[in-house]
Amino acid sequence: MALTETSLRAEVRAWVQAHWDPALTLRAWRTLLLDAGWAVPSWPERWYGKGMPAWADDVVRREIAACRAVSSIPSGLAGPTILEQGPDHVRERFLRPLLTGEEVWCQLFSEPSAGSDLAGLTTTAVLDGDEWVLNGQKVWNTSAHHADLGMLVARTNWDAPKHQGITYFVLPMHQRGVEVRPLRQMNFHSSFNEVFLTDARVPRDWVVGEVHQGWAAALATLAHERRWGVAVSVDRHPVDPGPAADEAAAEAAATLQVYSWYPQRAGRVDLAVPHARAAGVTADPVVRQELARLVSMNRVSQWTAERAKAARLLGRPPGPEGSIGKLALSRVARQAARVHALIGGAHAMLAGDDPHAPLDGVLAEILISVPAQSIAGGTDEIQHNILGEKALGLPKEPDPAKGLPYRDARNR
Ligand SMILES: Cc1cc2nc3c(=O)[nH]c(=O)nc-3n(C[C@H](O)[C@H](O)[C@H](O)COP(=O)(O)OP(=O)(O)OC[C@H]3O[C@@H](n4cnc5c(N)ncnc54)[C@H](O)[C@@H]3O)c2cc1C
Repeated sequence: MALTETSLRAEVRAWVQAHWDPALTLRAWRTLLLDAGWAVPSWPERWYGKGMPAWADDVVRREIAACRAVSSIPSGLAGPTILEQGPDHVRERFLRPLLTGEEVWCQLFSEPSAGSDLAGLTTTAVLDGDEWVLNGQKVWNTSAHHADLGMLVARTNWDAPKHQGITYFVLPMHQRGVEVRPLRQMNFHSSFNEVFLTDARVPRDWVVGEVHQGWAAALATLAHERRWGVAVSVDRHPVDPGPAADEAAAEAAATLQVYSWYPQRAGRVDLAVPHARAAGVTADPVVRQELARLVSMNRVSQWTAERAKAARLLGRPPGPEGSIGKLALSRVARQAARVHALIGGAHAMLAGDDPHAPLDGVLAEILISVPAQSIAGGTDEIQHNILGEKALGLPKEPDPAKGLPYRDARNR
């Protein structure tokens, strides 16, 4: 019988009704989901899935929620990267605890002088017996302060050209050679960190993809990041009370703490019209014009997101809609900040508990958080470059160091 949304929902519902027990621990429940293939039904059967089409993941997650059970956790960026790039012993070691939530991951890509130009990284890994020894510095690493493992790219061959001497490692975060220092942001949150590596150790075979060929795996992570977005969804549906629900709520609270400013970063389009109403400026023709512009831009951006989602659900590989969608989000966020500032005037600068602060201080947080939208996950300029080169077929940026050993190319 062909798989349809209706038949799938019925199958999931029957399974959940037979297995969901709110008295279970979160781990026990997630293990049941995983072993039954419901955590990631679109993944191959060998790797905890059911080999279903990509759209099944969403349908299953929603149906589990409708049954008032705890849903599975998203596979993030590490999950799909490891699934795609392997090798098998890495899939075996890391996918299960990632999907049960036992091991939390962070992304250790950016460096002080390698952000947009990520392949210019200089963190170095040298093989020493059965271990790699890593030295260098990473920066802007979201959640590194509570992660167990890091997706880390480092240079393993300085004599190869820039993109060819890089290896993608799984770094154990809890060790003496890894020092995580939280960064204080201008919006007073502290969601990312600097990570210093001083003779940090990685087991020899904790390599995603192949040694020296980590750039391919890094591109896979970045493509998922653009497509998945940096938006973070946390389950908020009602769940039958019990240990699993309590643990899931505590897990969600810890996640939300890091990402609590992300809605403000996106501009809080939802607050624009209520803000104008509360300020009594809905009849102002300039405000109306800017509000209309914002609402239209946001609607178009949502259509782009829906197109990207539809492509993903059809199992298509990430395409230009990731960069287009990301650019659209940046433009919407900036327009939202402009509208809020127009409505709030000088009061928009009042933050925190000040009784005159519009929207209880949220407005000030919007204005200082919006710039991050154009940076995280690859800046707007980099998205333009990707679209120019990959979608429009324009010439690549000139690279005078092309093909040279990175040791020499770096100084050009
Ligand atoms: C909220 C947030 C979360 C983040 N989380 C993580 C994380 O978890 N892990 C991680 O590793 N990193 C993370 N980052 C870092 C992020 O990936 C980098 O900030 C981003 O890639 C830009 O790098 P950069 O900051 O070094 O800027 P730079 O690369 O120094 O860029 C500076 C400016 O130059 C422009 N520019 C650079 N190169 C070009 C070019 N070739 N053409 C045109 N313009 C160019 C850029 O667009 C930008 O305006 C995060 C950043 C933010 C804001």
